[in-house]
Amino acid sequence: MTLTKSVRQVRVLMGRLERGDDLLARLTEICVAEGVRAGRLEAIGAVERACLAYYDQQAGEYQFFELDAPLEITKLSGNVSLKDGQPMVHAHVTLADRDGRAFGGHLAPGTVVFACEFVVEVFDGPDFVRGFDEQTGLPLWT
Ligand code: ZN
Repeated sequence: MTLTKSVRQVRVLMGRLERGDDLLARLTEICVAEGVRAGRLEAIGAVERACLAYYDQQAGEYQFFELDAPLEITKLSGNVSLKDGQPMVHAHVTLADRDGRAFGGHLAPGTVVFACEFVVEVFDGPDFVRGFDEQTGLPLWT
């Protein structure tokens, strides 16, 4: 199902996270605290280690993998919408090592911040609510 709705940017949050923060958990906490129901997220910085996921389309489940090394966040891109009535951050990251080799995937809990600067664009408008999608097995916007 294709879905399009209009939203309006009403506010922009900009800040930084602390060393040792769980990247996904802290971004989610900020969105909950700020009452963000819909938004766009971006960040750069570095992590001490990472836990990412790859969605196995055949198996219909996430495969998690760990990168146990200091890496640069060359790009974090994501959105905020509602799941079970709460703001949910969905983010993908590209991380690079000292040789510039990049790794990427769906950001999972367990990614530890070394330093991180983020921007959240806050949108106003109709809600985007995640619900189970039978075609993919994913919690997509309904
Ligand atoms: Zn994802």
